[in-house]
Amino acid sequence: MTSTVFYASLNPSTTLFSRTHFPIPISRDFSLELLHPVNSNYGFRTKENGQMKRMTKPKISVSEAPPERSGAADVDGNSKKLRVLVAGGGIGGLVFALAAKRKGFDVMVFEKDLSAIRGEGQYRGPIQIQSNALAALEAIDLEVADEVMKTGCITGDRINGLVDGISGNWYCKFDTFTPAAERGLPVTRVISRMTLQQILACAVGEDVIMNDSNVVNFQDDGDKVTVILENGQRYEGDLLVGADGIWSKVRKNLFGFTEATYSGYTCYTGIADFVPADIETVGYRVFLGHKQYFVSSDVGAGKMQWYAFHNEPPGGVDGSTGKKQRLLKIFEGWCDNVIDLLLSTDEDAILRRDILTAHQLLTGERVV
Ligand SMILES: Cc1cc2nc3c(=O)[nH]c(=O)nc-3n(C[C@H](O)[C@H](O)[C@H](O)COP(=O)(O)OP(=O)(O)OC[C@H]3O[C@@H](n4cnc5c(N)ncnc54)[C@H](O)[C@@H]3O)c2cc1C
Repeated sequence: MTSTVFYASLNPSTTLFSRTHFPIPISRDFSLELLHPVNSNYGFRTKENGQMKRMTKPKISVSEAPPERSGAADVDGNSKKLRVLVAGGGIGGLVFALAAKRKGFDVMVFEKDLSAIRGEGQYRGPIQIQSNALAALEAIDLEVADEVMKTGCITGDRINGLVDGISGNWYCKFDTFTPAAERGLPVTRVISRMTLQQILACAVGEDVIMNDSNVVNFQDDGDKVTVILENGQRYEGDLLVGADGIWSKVRKNLFGFTEATYSGYTCYTGIADFVPADIETVGYRVFLGHKQYFVSSDVGAGKMQWYAFHNEPPGGVDGSTGKKQRLLKIFEGWCDNVIDLLLSTDEDAILRRDILTAHQLLTGERVV
């Protein structure tokens, strides 16, 4: 391998290609109608006096990119950066792209459909970002981490845990606050996936993300890797990261096709204008039952988001009576916290999908 080829650039003949941009403008002042900060105190808190206090920063760091190396010069003698290609602009791909960009790598993200940005993702459900993940985000980009923490709804300083679905009685409560505070980590938040992806995409930049770019294959030549898109376009880089989800084309082409496994559970998710009576003390709750369970979480701004899991064969389709009626039947006799939340949710705010799992895989040399 020669160093010149090793540092081969992304194919710069962009005149051949039309780079698509976000379907809606992404700006830092995008509408946050789904989530507003309930508590914008996002520093570290000690329990003793309830005061907000910055504690020791977590020891998390991101490796520096080698910005230049001998032999990696263009015709004018300027140094070139390593070119990292990322297949998939979901949460994983965007966080990786942000970290690589901040460390000086030349990054390009190929995303087949940024649907979450367009709004479909608003009913995909909330995502809980644990203290360690927030600390990792801080290490990558403090400004982005601050934005996520300001926008997210703090649940880590309230009671969270498992309850009996019928009686509503607590089985166990999770204390995520104490271990986080002891280590100086941010407190766990819950945030809308759509909002999180918008913040990340905005920070990564539309010049880096190529939307409508369906990766169908790659070619590993040892000293460079080439991404091949569905429309025939080809882009060269030094490394390819497959972050293209459970049906990853990168994984398939690297290791062969592996069937994703049905978890046994179908999942409904919804959002409602609903404020439980115990909102001040409870963040999220998992209601357990036999072969079914229900998760509710405060997401701020007077809204609750929820997941309802039910053990049944895959591929189920809801009848004409709708998802809400089916859920009320499935969860009949459960405690008021579940029933009231379902009753408060509009039919068209409920989505359904089967939950699949993929096997963990090893990585290749120039493709991960
Ligand atoms: C019900 C449920 C609840 C969960 N709750 C939590 C939680 O509270 N906290 C938490 O940390 N995790 C949670 N998880 C896990 C978390 O959602 C996933 O780990 C995470 O979303 C994975 O992100 P990703 O970017 O790797 O993949 P994905 O989100 O699947 O993103 C993949 C991206 O790649 C794109 N793509 C796919 N194929 C191609 C292609 N060929 N070319 C170009 N682009 C392509 C897709 O359009 C997509 O944007 C939960 C998961 C489930 C199912």
